[in-house]
Amino acid sequence: MLPTYQEFLTRIHTALDARNDVIIENVGELHYQTESEEKIYDYIKISSTPILPTDNILLIRAGIHGDEVAGVLTLMKHIGEIVNYAHTRGVKLIVFPLDNPSGFEGRTRYNIEGDRGDAGNNDFVRYILSDGSITDDLGSQNEFKAWKWSSDPMFAIHLPKETAMIHAQLKKLPLSRIIGVIDLHGDNFINQPYAYHYAYGDVRRYHEIAENIRAVVPILANEYVNSGYLNGPDFVPEIVRDGKIVLDDPDLKSDADGFIVRYEGSLPDLMQRLGAEHAITVETTGVVPEAIGDKVNMIWIKGLIDQIAKNNRNSDRE
Ligand SMILES: [Zn+2]
Repeated sequence: MLPTYQEFLTRIHTALDARNDVIIENVGELHYQTESEEKIYDYIKISSTPILPTDNILLIRAGIHGDEVAGVLTLMKHIGEIVNYAHTRGVKLIVFPLDNPSGFEGRTRYNIEGDRGDAGNNDFVRYILSDGSITDDLGSQNEFKAWKWSSDPMFAIHLPKETAMIHAQLKKLPLSRIIGVIDLHGDNFINQPYAYHYAYGDVRRYHEIAENIRAVVPILANEYVNSGYLNGPDFVPEIVRDGKIVLDDPDLKSDADGFIVRYEGSLPDLMQRLGAEHAITVETTGVVPEAIGDKVNMIWIKGLIDQIAKNNRNSDRE
């Protein structure tokens, strides 16, 4: 049985309330109108305290796609362990642990209003191309004239309420100190147990992390992946050839370690544009058992904390 949002909040508070190195804040309320009632959810943020102007921060987000529960459950069960691991290595945390609470309770990708926005609820970037046209997804081709937050008023784009909320919250953060980002998802389109990941830059630096994941679940290696990542299952930019799905962008194939590089306007894409050195989307398929999903998510979280801690040590020497 999945917890309700209230039960989720209780578990998080039970894990963290007695600590003096982390705070849980209600930073806003999400109001949704259903046919029969208005539903209101507190929107929470978990932060290390204090966060100094020189600190290096890992941002963790889970649960934007409400039916992808793996990351939310991992954070609910392991948030204390994650805080310990980060703080003993000098890394600070900012965590948005359940970005779409009404979708989580209803097990729906979008919120209780069914609002997918203009381009899905994981909508953070617009790219302006050299011919002046505007897109939310460059595929694997990192070519554009300019980029902007999708919430920039110049676009007048409709964002679902939970997406507008995290845009507003992000703009209050010390963005230049966010060195790493992990966005925890769960692929509900592939019916085999797999893990794979979206990343940017030199993905070879994550080889050891991929090897650790491979030890607990198969890696979706050398495969075309289009799991409605951004635009949902009704958006299918793919063709079928000899019974196999072939994307129209042949570079959108995972590598031997399961990495896909795709500039698709997601939260990690925004953060890498803002200068984060590490920006990862973690995907485990929905048929992966919960305990295995936890292991994969924790390998990524601890692996990125280790990488950020290594940066800390290097800069200490300079
Ligand atoms: Zn997702």
